[in-house]
Amino acid sequence: MRADAEVEAFRAEVRAFIAEHGPALRAEGLRVPRDADEERRIRAWLGSLYEAGYLGGGWPEEWGGRPDHLPVHDLVVMEELIRARAYRPLDQVMLAAHEIIEFGSDDQKRELLPKIRSGEHVWCQLFSEPDAGSDLASLRTRAEPVDGGFVVTGQKIWSTDAQWADMGVLLARTDPTVDRHAGITAFVVPMGLPGIEVRPIREMTGDAEFCEVFLDEVRLGSEHVLGEVDDGWRVVTSGLASERAFVGANALQLEMMFADLVALARAARLPDGSAAIDHEDVQAQLAVALARVEEANLITRDTVERILVDDEHPSDGPVAKLSYTETNVALCEAALELLAGAATIGEEGREVAERWRHDFLWSRALTISGGASEIMRGLIGRQLLGLPRA
Ligand SMILES: Cc1cc2nc3c(=O)[nH]c(=O)nc-3n(C[C@H](O)[C@H](O)[C@H](O)COP(=O)(O)OP(=O)(O)OC[C@H]3O[C@@H](n4cnc5c(N)ncnc54)[C@H](O)[C@@H]3O)c2cc1C
Repeated sequence: MRADAEVEAFRAEVRAFIAEHGPALRAEGLRVPRDADEERRIRAWLGSLYEAGYLGGGWPEEWGGRPDHLPVHDLVVMEELIRARAYRPLDQVMLAAHEIIEFGSDDQKRELLPKIRSGEHVWCQLFSEPDAGSDLASLRTRAEPVDGGFVVTGQKIWSTDAQWADMGVLLARTDPTVDRHAGITAFVVPMGLPGIEVRPIREMTGDAEFCEVFLDEVRLGSEHVLGEVDDGWRVVTSGLASERAFVGANALQLEMMFADLVALARAARLPDGSAAIDHEDVQAQLAVALARVEEANLITRDTVERILVDDEHPSDGPVAKLSYTETNVALCEAALELLAGAATIGEEGREVAERWRHDFLWSRALTISGGASEIMRGLIGRQLLGLPRA
């Protein structure tokens, strides 16, 4: 990782910007806005990050990218957002921007990219269906060709932020007679169109991050097609978002979680009044957790070194994702064990304890989104270890 003076100066600049402008949102564990007011402040915050050139720096210059941008700048921005525990941009907005830049028509770019940069538009992904997740190519939502466009009918699920989204990238089947990967088309869909109904799903964290989205004879024009008709598979699998170095920030995330685990062990009091951290078994648990964090961080840093010089191996993403999300689960489980054994939590540990409760409930979701752990293991087996397909 480059740590030269220019990068460190950039880091200082970003840190100062976040300290000055980062909005006081519902701080910890915030992944979804609680109300419309919070949603407005999040959009303004993301818009200001784009305007300052801290997001979208890797976009083509004509759409607002920076001429001096390097992937390491993305990494620095994400690290500083994590360090400040500030609201971070959602993956699906960055991916939508990437897809529009790569496959969008000139009209779509002109219309849609500035609205992402200003924070005016939030996007969602309308990919998964009740019977199509890991095996996305089995999706059944139909887009029937009609004069001048398509009529779409079907159901999507797990669409993050769909209740707030202005636009969605939709995958629908346009030709059921060909190979299942070949007959799929990607669309850019205004979420306010007649026939679209969004129903938030309440999760065990208490938040409603995902939604079901019902599409009932939704009329789309040909100008809504993203890329070519029947070529949607290429659009969604078109490589990684330009901000792919963001993955490196997971190392910092795990370090901060480990610090939280130690803080919890200090604040947790056992029934005899002693601090949990003074007990050998807790110390051993912390040592195991630290070893896992170090291991995951070595893997992440190794991956990022290659990303920064554009020399990735196909299995890098799956290895880094698996190691981060599984370590995240392990840390959350260790924290829950500490909480379960504690008689009381000192005042200084209340905030940390709350954070762990939320993170524990959320941790499994990360092992599913962006490719489930089992799928990652399958990819690693084939791509890295050369094992035959099961
Ligand atoms: C936090 C989060 C955010 C998400 N955001 C979005 C979004 O914005 N838009 C969207 O469209 N979707 C979104 N999703 C959905 C996500 O893409 C799917 O949940 C994911 O692809 C898994 O699909 P599934 O839930 O249908 O599970 P399934 O594919 O049915 O899998 C069920 C279980 O079977 C395992 N399994 C499946 N196939 C195999 C195999 N070949 N080999 C071994 N094991 C297998 C899986 O690993 C899993 O454990 C999100 C999910 C999460 C958790």
